Amino acid sequence: MAKITIAIDGFSSTGKSTLAKQLAKSLGYAYIDTGAMYRAITLFAMRNNFIGQGTENIQALIQLLPRIQLKFIPNAELGFSEMFLNGENVEKEIRTLPVSRHVSRIAEIEQVRHKLVDMQKAMGKDKGIVMDGRDIGTVVFPDAELKIFMTASPTARATRRYKELLGKGDRVTYEEVLENVKNRDYIDSHREFSPLRKADDAIELDNSDMGLQEQFERLESIALRVIDKT
Ligand code: C5P
Repeated sequence: MAKITIAIDGFSSTGKSTLAKQLAKSLGYAYIDTGAMYRAITLFAMRNNFIGQGTENIQALIQLLPRIQLKFIPNAELGFSEMFLNGENVEKEIRTLPVSRHVSRIAEIEQVRHKLVDMQKAMGKDKGIVMDGRDIGTVVFPDAELKIFMTASPTARATRRYKELLGKGDRVTYEEVLENVKNRDYIDSHREFSPLRKADDAIELDNSDMGLQEQFERLESIALRVIDKT
């Protein structure tokens, strides 16, 4: 059976990763969470005081970009890959609210986007991949055989993300999570380089009122149809 490229884009906290991971598993495809890559660079910038606490030194970050090594390493026990930043497992740390607060600023930087888009293209060169992010169907794989664009209301997304963070033991309020969701939507959609937008040939999936199983079944049947025709 022919292998295809599946691009899943959309607003933050639409459940892209959960769905993409599940789809990749059922198809026997690789899964790449590109948000984890932007988050890891953000963590690096925060640790070096290039961003945060009211200060910003983007030039210093750009200079050090060649020295930032990112790697996805599979964790057989968990059933997914974890993000390693210069050899350190940062999977948990990159998902916290402080990183979420700064990530969209870092993701606006042209040089950061170039570095990560090049890596993403290389990862997908043999197809058989499900990749999720903001610019996968528009910039990384404009020729992907299947493109999905996920949306949901800001409140539905904030509620999901809030429960997820509480479940991990993070002390956050619903209001700050909602504010972060809206703020990232704004920056992601208005930035100069590869802003978040639906590719013309993407299928839109609004999952505000849809359960995970229903979303998965719908997506899987679309994917199988496309694979069949390829
Ligand atoms: O997907 P996730 O919410 O983890 O992504 C974190 C942030 O990384 C997004 O809000 C966005 O600013 C940035 N991002 C991006 N392009 C991608 C993936 C993520 O700009 N392909």
